[in-house]
Amino acid sequence: MTTKIKGMDKSFIKIKCPDCGTETLTYARGSTEVKCPVCNTVLAKPTGGKFEINGQISGEFK
Ligand SMILES: [Zn+2]
Repeated sequence: MTTKIKGMDKSFIKIKCPDCGTETLTYARGSTEVKCPVCNTVLAKPTGGKFEINGQISGEFK
């Protein structure tokens, strides 16, 4: 599952790894790839202003 987010007002999101289920807290926007610390799966990658999420967003934090 891929989710594209743009212009989110949330500062942090928690992404659940689609492979191992580990939850990783990261910025909702960024310019670098976010990888799972356990299995190294790419969880989010920047694509021209959007942040493409690979996995499930399990939480949002301001
Ligand atoms: Zn993982």
